[in-house]
Amino acid sequence: MHVPSKAGMACRKFLTLLAGTLAFSAMAASAYAQQLPLFDAHMHYNVEARSVLSPQQVIDLWRKTGIRAVLATSRPNDGTLDLIAQKAPDITIVPFLRPYRVQPDRHDWFSNAEIDAFVEKELQRGIYRGIGEFHIFGKDADAPFMAKIARLAKARDLWLHAHADEDAVERILRHAPGVKLIWAHTGMSTPLDKVEQMFAQYPNIVGELSYRMDLEQDGALNPRWRALMTKYPNRFVVGTDAWVTPRWGQVEELAAFYRRMLGGLPRDVAERIAYRNGLSMFGLEEERSTR
Ligand SMILES: [Zn+2]
Repeated sequence: MHVPSKAGMACRKFLTLLAGTLAFSAMAASAYAQQLPLFDAHMHYNVEARSVLSPQQVIDLWRKTGIRAVLATSRPNDGTLDLIAQKAPDITIVPFLRPYRVQPDRHDWFSNAEIDAFVEKELQRGIYRGIGEFHIFGKDADAPFMAKIARLAKARDLWLHAHADEDAVERILRHAPGVKLIWAHTGMSTPLDKVEQMFAQYPNIVGELSYRMDLEQDGALNPRWRALMTKYPNRFVVGTDAWVTPRWGQVEELAAFYRRMLGGLPRDVAERIAYRNGLSMFGLEEERSTR
């Protein structure tokens, strides 16, 4: 018969205790993460969604979901103006100018003189904190209008919100070095080594995380992502990307997904990515005290 030594028993007791403590802190972490307020840095209240959800219903959905601030864009921009007009005191709305009037503009906006005039006119509203989300890939980013937009954003301290491959991002940054750029979907499928290299090279890129399918691994935050977020805690924001109307029906599910993923990070990093980075990007840090 094997008689466990006193030291062995103590060691086992310690391990049991340690496992309990770890389980407790994991539970505490996830309980905390479930309450995280969110800054939704990627949504579109487009004309199709407006026919289904009233601006008040959108505000109610954000309230219910714990989305406390949004980077608002829409096609056309009227949707964003409608949301602002609600004057919801508890939801911070950061409006971006979308350079699309109708859906097909997505494909040729950067070479369309009408869009140039449209953007100039929209800018006169004086309310926008950035331009986007726009789509641009590869050499299209060398189009003169793209270069103009990048320089204009730099000159007026506006952000760009680009759905772009890494090639297009680098071309944009060559047109206007130092321009602030939210990289929609953090490139979506850009290898993480390349993302990391670009973050090191271009300090003004912020990665938005929607549709990054590699974020989750075995039901939790992918360790590669965890390392990148911990290395660059100020450089990521979350987004629902409600780009088609059915995706508006998934907003609560997407918020729960982000809270589950962020629960795998140190609390401070999770808070930054969930909410605080979005605020500080637009000089809204004082809102923290109202949480
Ligand atoms: Zn989008």
